[in-house]
Amino acid sequence: MKSLKAQNSFLANAGEQLHILEDETINSFALTPFQQKLESGNLYPLKPKQLEIFQVNIGKMCNQTCRHCHVDAGPDRKEIMTKETMQQCLKVLISNPNLKIVDLTGGAPEMNSLFRWLVEEIKNLDRHIIVRCNLTIIRANKKYYDLPEFYKQNNIEVISSLPFYTQDRTDRQRGNGVFEDSIKALQMLNSVGYGVDGTGLILNLVYNPAGAFLPPGQHALEREYKQALKARFGIEFNNLFTITNMPISRYLDYLLTSGNYESYMEKLVSAYNPVAAANVMCRNTISVGWDGYLYDCDFNQMLELKVNCKSKHISTFNEVELYNREIILGQHCYGCTAGAGSSCGGAVA
Ligand code: SF4
Ligand code: SF4
Repeated sequence: MKSLKAQNSFLANAGEQLHILEDETINSFALTPFQQKLESGNLYPLKPKQLEIFQVNIGKMCNQTCRHCHVDAGPDRKEIMTKETMQQCLKVLISNPNLKIVDLTGGAPEMNSLFRWLVEEIKNLDRHIIVRCNLTIIRANKKYYDLPEFYKQNNIEVISSLPFYTQDRTDRQRGNGVFEDSIKALQMLNSVGYGVDGTGLILNLVYNPAGAFLPPGQHALEREYKQALKARFGIEFNNLFTITNMPISRYLDYLLTSGNYESYMEKLVSAYNPVAAANVMCRNTISVGWDGYLYDCDFNQMLELKVNCKSKHISTFNEVELYNREIILGQHCYGCTAGAGSSCGGAVA
């Protein structure tokens, strides 16, 4: 067995190799620039519409280490939002009533010890709250067992990833045992009324492809999920969102090491849909990083591309400046505009 030092040096070398491979592959591969595609539909420069969704990443810590994770989240990540930054977020919500939806994400947002405090403060401001719950957190430790009740008390919309309705495909993407725990967590959510007709408690699931391909049609897959989960486990839910894997972070590493990068990018480019381009989520969403910096979307956040205006941090949030900015684009944006499009709320076209 390798010593820790040897293992670290091995990992550092592997990382270096991957970055060399990444640069060589990406730079030698000519793609129509995304901006040019937008220009052909008079959408460039891409400008925001009215801001409505305030998406806040309250930390990169997670109990899982999924293969496709664009946040590169995991149990060892230390980045976590402080109370001071949360208070700045609350101040922005008070002075910007048009930010009607607050979307809390991570990592596993519940792992931030201030998560429940933050939710209750936002609830007092009368906003619709979404929590991106990875399901297994509900089963990870006794202190999380009451999360379904907590979500219910605060009328939270729960959005949870379940890559497929079978164990093999889910565990391959998210880790061994994840499917079983996710099913138990979904049953716990159902038992307090989530996803059940007439309760008003919304439980939405998210599908993303296990390999280098685009998601199938959202409605047909939703029917398939509903039938399978009901028949096998008695589970109910509201909507299924299909999401395209973005060619960044861990998923980019997978594309490069598996030799799928070029063919995947070609698929995204040839499936470019101008209707999806007009509706990309960065036009009505602002994304706040764990340290308070502002981004056009969660993906630009992971690429550390801060918003292109003076108001770069939550402490200097200025809605007018943000409204007048140009959205920062890159080749990864093809992930949002392929086929029916993709956003944190699923297909957009
Ligand atoms: S559960 Fe979500 S945040 Fe955590 S590793 Fe998986 S994809 Fe990333
Ligand atoms: S990746 Fe972000 S910036 Fe690019 S189109 Fe999608 S939402 Fe907009």
